[in-house]
Amino acid sequence: MEFEAVIGLEIHIELNTTTKLFCNCANHTDSPPNTNTCPTCLWFPGAVPLLSDMAVDKAALVALGLGCELQPESSFDQKVYYYPDLAKGYQLTQAQQPIACGGYVEVTNEKGTPRKLRIHHIHLEEDVAKLIHEMEGRVKISLVDFNRAGVPLIEIVTEPDIRTPHEAMEMLKSLRNVVRSVGASECSLESGSMRADANISIRPKGTSELNTKVEVKNMNSLRSVGDAIAFEIARQTAAVNGGEAITEHTRLWDADKKVTLPMRDKFDVPYIPEPTIGTVRLTPERIAHLRTLLPELPAAKADRLVKEYSLSNVEALFLSTDADAATYFETLAGDGIAVKTAYHWLVTQLMPLLREQQFEVGDSPVMPSRLAQLLKLLTNDEINANAARETLAVMFHSTKSPAQIVEEKGFRQLSDTTLIDSLIETVLQQNQAAVADLQNGIGKAMGFLIGQVMQASDGKANPKLIKERLSQKFNK
Ligand SMILES: [Zn+2]
Repeated sequence: MEFEAVIGLEIHIELNTTTKLFCNCANHTDSPPNTNTCPTCLWFPGAVPLLSDMAVDKAALVALGLGCELQPESSFDQKVYYYPDLAKGYQLTQAQQPIACGGYVEVTNEKGTPRKLRIHHIHLEEDVAKLIHEMEGRVKISLVDFNRAGVPLIEIVTEPDIRTPHEAMEMLKSLRNVVRSVGASECSLESGSMRADANISIRPKGTSELNTKVEVKNMNSLRSVGDAIAFEIARQTAAVNGGEAITEHTRLWDADKKVTLPMRDKFDVPYIPEPTIGTVRLTPERIAHLRTLLPELPAAKADRLVKEYSLSNVEALFLSTDADAATYFETLAGDGIAVKTAYHWLVTQLMPLLREQQFEVGDSPVMPSRLAQLLKLLTNDEINANAARETLAVMFHSTKSPAQIVEEKGFRQLSDTTLIDSLIETVLQQNQAAVADLQNGIGKAMGFLIGQVMQASDGKANPKLIKERLSQKFNK
């Protein structure tokens, strides 16, 4: 029997607010342990939680970016359970009345077909403390760091529309792009500012029932999400084919062994309305104001880049995931740099250099106007591509203009045909075998000879001109 997977995701995202959700402690989880704490987030009895407006706004911005419907009223409940990372015995979460419902992301599946994956709802909740397990001598001890306690989270709960590991990864990428573009979180699975749990079940292909699902946690990279889901689909398929029943439980992904392992049975917990926070209200005026803060969203940006600049879908999609890179590209193009040159130099030359020196495009030491000056030297044939690359490297540490650097370093391209012809003569004499090859129609000999002439000119000759002169010589 052929099965299909039914997958839903529950994604927790840490909002990058300045303070925690219910107190004024700094939202910095990586400070020295227990330094960003107060009676409220240490969960002392009697401390009164005060809801952060910034957290509500950021959650609402994410919801608007994902096309969700913001709820005029939402509220918090106490989710009652005890664990050492939740010392007060309950977590404040919007269980019954979330801040936003509906919404979707569009992804492309393995076959290149667009798919609309729906979101069920988005709610706000507080994060729990962090447990650190250590050895003290031969004794295993567990420490609690409350810096994370009370940090604002949004949980995005999807509909079970996802069918494959690929779609799950694409959905996470799309969500991440939107959350980043509205400036609500860095959304890193690796560092834990984004955490994704997957609910997975299988059913005979073509049927529509929802079977018993298994929850998989602990996936710390996009790759892990894909691998864990693929493993779990295969495990459940083998179990069902072997006549085994699937029971509802939670499993952990082991990234080293590449397996999911049973962790615990699922348990239901009671929810009690939180009495002190009150109703969270989003007035039409506040929603209208938030809409004015929405940037151009990645999907719309990609569409526009294709239409306006004739970029390919892949190129447009790449730029749309990094708003600063897209702006950089558009500034270059607006400065008169050809689209292909602008994209190529930004993506394959500047961005690797930035990454190497741990800069983001947004804080590039080489501003678009300076890169444009350099690219004009290149397109006017005043320097060749090699010289442009070397000049770019110098520009990282210098405020001099590209033209000045080119002069000082002697990078100006050699376009004197008499000189180039004499270099060609020397090279041809020294490379009789390649000349014979070229005469016999072996095309790659041309590339070799151009390279030799370039070398003879210390890399300064204009390669286009060399090719032109050589071709003239041999086509005669
Ligand atoms: Zn606090």
